[in-house]
Amino acid sequence: MVPVIRARTHDVVIVGGGLFGLVLAEQIATRCAASVVVIEREHHLGGLCWSKRDAHTGVEYNPYGTHVVATSDPRVWGWITSRVRMVVYEHTVHAAVAGQLVPLPLGLEAIEAAYGRKLSPDQARATVEADAAPYRDGPVDSVRDLALAQVGTRLYETFVRGYVSAQWGTDPAQLSPEVFADRFGISFTPSRGYHPGARWQGLPCGSYSALIDPLADHSRIEVHLGRDYLRPPRPRYQRLMVVTTPIDAHFGHQLGPLQRRSLHVDWRLVDAEQAQRAPVVTYPDGTSPHYRSHAPALLPWNHGQEKTGSVLVGFESAGPGPHQIDFVLRSPPNTELAAKYGQLATARSDVLLAGRGTTFYDDMSTTIGHALALADRLVPDLT
Ligand SMILES: Cc1cc2nc3c(=O)[nH]c(=O)nc-3n(C[C@H](O)[C@H](O)[C@H](O)COP(=O)(O)OP(=O)(O)OC[C@H]3O[C@@H](n4cnc5c(N)ncnc54)[C@H](O)[C@@H]3O)c2cc1C
Repeated sequence: MVPVIRARTHDVVIVGGGLFGLVLAEQIATRCAASVVVIEREHHLGGLCWSKRDAHTGVEYNPYGTHVVATSDPRVWGWITSRVRMVVYEHTVHAAVAGQLVPLPLGLEAIEAAYGRKLSPDQARATVEADAAPYRDGPVDSVRDLALAQVGTRLYETFVRGYVSAQWGTDPAQLSPEVFADRFGISFTPSRGYHPGARWQGLPCGSYSALIDPLADHSRIEVHLGRDYLRPPRPRYQRLMVVTTPIDAHFGHQLGPLQRRSLHVDWRLVDAEQAQRAPVVTYPDGTSPHYRSHAPALLPWNHGQEKTGSVLVGFESAGPGPHQIDFVLRSPPNTELAAKYGQLATARSDVLLAGRGTTFYDDMSTTIGHALALADRLVPDLT
């Protein structure tokens, strides 16, 4: 069904009602007199960080997978906390390895699990260094090359190879080294949580809606839900269109499609006795049908709220399915093609490409930081 579109033409059209689009819309509407319309294909705002309440258990959860804010950027944390009360929470992610839950990112516990013995931090460092040394002098062209040079064979085989292959559907030797650099890391001390370097961590009090919905609640912002901007009629605007959605689709795939990888999260009720004991668990041995699972009842949002004997668990697997997320594959040919689309984008000064559509992966802190910075650039010209 074609959605009803009001005749009014706004100053700015923002395509995508995810975090990037909404932060930008709020900043433009509150910092200058320009009017904004946000066009969102889904029937909810928030994009990937959207959360909702499960009708059966009463648990608040992120249908696209657990989202926790972690940042060391004072501007980003200041912006968030001036809009919503945050529940301080130190996130943990565990790997299920040989029947035990090992905290990630790779640290002393992971090294002990991989080598099967107790180690001091110095012993752990020496053991990993010896394992990685033969790979240090070779070229670093892939996840495999970088991982072997940094963590050695044993940790690579135990924690990296199966997980990366399952998530990206391709051998780590085919993926750009940034995939490892962005997602993994190693320390030789006991775990200090999943984001040991972050100055602030937390969840919006109650739900992501508490953060997201008020952003669009402004007299100069109009929201069109359930509208795909690629379908006619194309949105009209007076000054500027900001597109936060896939860059190749925006150009009608004229240079060819970027190669994508889909994952999805299937939410099921699990008997409380069988349910995992940690909020997020990964399965790096590569034999599990899913490579990660989420138990939102264990997040501080939901403490004391579970109403039934069943627990809501989200099983994250590769391929298309419910709550599907498409990622651009971070491989050398794709990086080249994305750069060519980027060049096409510079040709029109009234169209800006931004947000997740133009990047391989940004976390929410980076997303908010980039949206605030883009607003700094745009607002003087829109005033
Ligand atoms: C499984 C998973 C877990 C994550 N966990 C974390 C975490 O714990 N912490 C963290 O900081 N970050 C996390 N992230 C990253 C976080 O989701 C992103 O930083 C953030 O959502 C990016 O926001 P965005 O607005 O750029 O993109 P999106 O959220 O993807 O928003 C883009 C919007 O555009 C809409 N859209 C697409 N095509 C069209 C179209 N043709 N017409 C109209 N609208 C369209 C989409 O429906 C979507 O709402 C995670 C990501 C994933 C996939």
